[in-house]
Amino acid sequence: MVEMSAAMREFSRRADGGLSLQKCAACGAVQWPPRDVCGECWTDALRWEEVPPAGVVVASTMLHASMADFFRDRLPWRIAIVRLEAGPVAYAHLGDAAAPGDAVRLEARRDFKGRGVLIAQSLSGDEDDRKLAELISEKES
Ligand SMILES: [Zn+2]
Repeated sequence: MVEMSAAMREFSRRADGGLSLQKCAACGAVQWPPRDVCGECWTDALRWEEVPPAGVVVASTMLHASMADFFRDRLPWRIAIVRLEAGPVAYAHLGDAAAPGDAVRLEARRDFKGRGVLIAQSLSGDEDDRKLAELISEKES
């Protein structure tokens, strides 16, 4: 069993609907994914900070295969690359109503394994996206 890094565990602990990311006190960079040091200047002067839960979909794709039972039962599954307003580019689970070029609302949530994940959804509202609701509510047995 692979353990999460300390930084990823802290992100997961905070992942309850807002968007809290590491910001470097030395150079000001906001980074994703969470790491032990700043990816820009390599200092460890990282602080957790709420950032705007907003971004733009750069690209999206549809997964048609997965090694994980959860996803295999729900294929196809949408994934996006999102440029966060706070700076970094991140992979996110993508709601059905959002397309490349669209502004999206982001949330950090814990998935069915308790891992912090990013979810991106259309501003026009696809809150009822069933698969995304299951992603953050189903508990793996
Ligand atoms: Zn830095």
